[in-house]
Amino acid sequence: MSILENIRIVLVEPIFGGNIGSVCRAMNNNDITDLAIVNPRPTTDWDDARKLSCNAKDQLEARKEFATLEEAIAGCTVVAGTSARTGFYRDNACSPREFGQIGLESAKDHKIALVFGREDKGLTNEELALCTHIIQIPSSEHYTSLNLSHAVMVCCYELFCASETFQPAEEKADEADSEFRERMFALWREMMIKTEFTHDQKLEHMMMGLRRIFSRGKLTVPDVKILMGLAKQSIWVSEQWQKTIKDK
Ligand code: SAH
Repeated sequence: MSILENIRIVLVEPIFGGNIGSVCRAMNNNDITDLAIVNPRPTTDWDDARKLSCNAKDQLEARKEFATLEEAIAGCTVVAGTSARTGFYRDNACSPREFGQIGLESAKDHKIALVFGREDKGLTNEELALCTHIIQIPSSEHYTSLNLSHAVMVCCYELFCASETFQPAEEKADEADSEFRERMFALWREMMIKTEFTHDQKLEHMMMGLRRIFSRGKLTVPDVKILMGLAKQSIWVSEQWQKTIKDK
């Protein structure tokens, strides 16, 4: 079982169906599947929710509904409330990144919950009092409040990254070794002479410049082959050109 399955996202009295759908999508992108809604509103537009959930419709249908926050978090060890606001009760917040480590540690063996508030009023102090942690997402001092689903995305993303389930695509091509690189530099040197790119006095200076440029990133065998091909072709064209001039 994946550690991420132990993470429950709790939405307290969300207003907009579109936001609920977007929350499902954000959760799905991060392999987090357990959604709980506290006291769903009769006015919620569930068609909107389905539309915005896109490929996460199963997730939306599988949501659990609870009458109170206490019931939604029963059985959870760590319970993190999220708030854009600071001040009494809300100081001592951690960032989503810090929480990524804390939350996952507990999620190894227990169910944990992240609690998100209403779009218009957030979470009440009584609701925050039930939480063991408060997460504040860093944001502009001019506009601190994120859209509900964006806030869920940021928190789920940090937990997902901390779980190290995702491996970024790696360069598969082999790195070029010194001997191969030197063959390429020799060809570039010849190309600079044959194309009359630079005078004799400046040649070595140019070569040092080229070495500096080409050592800024890792050169793979296919990279060096391209650079060699370019030099060989330029040398060949210059030789043809020289011949044409002589023949005239
Ligand atoms: N006007 C409300 C904001 C509600 S936004 C208020 O002032 O509290 C809806 C929910 O998104 C919030 O209750 C919170 O759970 C989450 N959220 C939005 N911005 C956030 C932030 N900067 N940090 C943490 N959570 C945030």
